[in-house]
Amino acid sequence: MRSHLLNDTTAEQYRRSVTEGVERVAARIATTDRPFTGVAVDALSRRIDGIDLDRPLRDTAAVLDELEDVYLRDAVYFHHPRYLAHLNCPVVIPALLGEAVLSAVNSSLDTWDQSAGGTLIERKLIDWTTARIGLGPAADGVFTSGGTQSNLQALLLAREEAKAESLADLRIFASEVSHFSVKKSAKLLGLGPDAVVPVPVDHDKRLQSVALARELERCVRDGLVPMAVVATAGTTDFGSIDPLPEIAGLCEQYGVWMHVDAAYGCGLLASLKYRDRIAGIERADSVTVDYHKSFFQPVSSSAVLVRDAATLRHATYHAEYLNPRRMVQERIPNQVDKSLQTTRRFDALKLWTTLRVMGADGIGELFDEVCDLAAEGWKLLAADPRFDVVVEPSLSTLVFRHVPAAVTDPAEIDRANLYARKALFASGDAVVAGTKVAGRHYLKFTLLNPETTPADIAAVLDLIAGHAEQYLGDSLDRAS
Ligand SMILES: *Cc1c(COP(=O)(O)O)cnc(C)c1O
Repeated sequence: MRSHLLNDTTAEQYRRSVTEGVERVAARIATTDRPFTGVAVDALSRRIDGIDLDRPLRDTAAVLDELEDVYLRDAVYFHHPRYLAHLNCPVVIPALLGEAVLSAVNSSLDTWDQSAGGTLIERKLIDWTTARIGLGPAADGVFTSGGTQSNLQALLLAREEAKAESLADLRIFASEVSHFSVKKSAKLLGLGPDAVVPVPVDHDKRLQSVALARELERCVRDGLVPMAVVATAGTTDFGSIDPLPEIAGLCEQYGVWMHVDAAYGCGLLASLKYRDRIAGIERADSVTVDYHKSFFQPVSSSAVLVRDAATLRHATYHAEYLNPRRMVQERIPNQVDKSLQTTRRFDALKLWTTLRVMGADGIGELFDEVCDLAAEGWKLLAADPRFDVVVEPSLSTLVFRHVPAAVTDPAEIDRANLYARKALFASGDAVVAGTKVAGRHYLKFTLLNPETTPADIAAVLDLIAGHAEQYLGDSLDRAS
């Protein structure tokens, strides 16, 4: 069994084994003609249930053959131009190179003695990101597993900085279309059930600053403590960007922590054309970025950034075995003092290899392309009487629904759209997402693939209309 351990005597086997795997994936990627096969849960469950984990196959090729059967053939492929569903991006090859390196060397980014250069590389990428945001000379941050963890950590710091007699008095303000991880964080942080105050949005799904001002005022009047305002720079459902300068002004006025959730909108930090859409982000106390959404990085790659490095101390605990206090005096750098995690992947390396091969402009160009594509798609939808489209895109999301000419019952229109989404998924021709707007079912394209063309969008809209019409036709038959 020792032959399976990676070391000086097995380096050649490592090369062969991983190359075999890479070749399978490359062959699969080169030949997928649909984003999904439409495989049913039951069919796939049977195949996976049939495998006895206590009877190893031993042979790499056999394992890869089996993997084709249980995973690779029927996976959902984000690189396909007709995958238009969630905030998943096709990945850039330089990042995959970084991924291969980081998992083999397997550094752990908690301490210097488990990472050495890894710690310094991560720090340099954090500095690069805070400079792009404009957070100032005292800024710092740390890589995380994703936007959910970044938001949790930012709100932990905000909670510790807030002055309140009781956790029950703390309030967080976030738009009604902010990410659900804000509410989850409030719960994990021990705040009360009413801690997150939903602030109404305008027609474009942007937080209404007038309403925020009113809520802050009310909060203080009621003797409660405003702990944080979460501004979303790129909502998950609409890509809408809250009015950051106005929110920053209100946060200053009330002395409240401003957190910007730019999990999606962070791609604009590299944009050559649309950087101004997130102007005001530099006034934040903390920022969430998900490189695995709009920097074309593999999952996971995310960071939380703060204006004042000192606030990260709220996440610091000293353990004798790992990061004793004397290390601070000895000036030995570590990242665990800044992180909610202990053992932690060197995810930063993927961004490093990406920036070193492509440069930031390369990423920004790709993100600009998907923003332009969304603008094209919006024009298509707005001109098409078969569809109702909401919110002109600020990033790369389109939310719309099929509105059949002959149907007026909104519940029936809901069912037709739900059916179309399901039928499309089952066909594997395209994958789209869905959400609710004002209580009604809508469909959603999250465009993160520069290879998707306006012709793809038009073709998928035709497919959606076809499925919806088919449902309504069948529904008429059922009624008669
Ligand atoms: C995706 C998303 C998150 C959560 O990020 P994960 O990486 O999925 O944990 C948080 N906020 C917004 C606005 C998002 O779009």
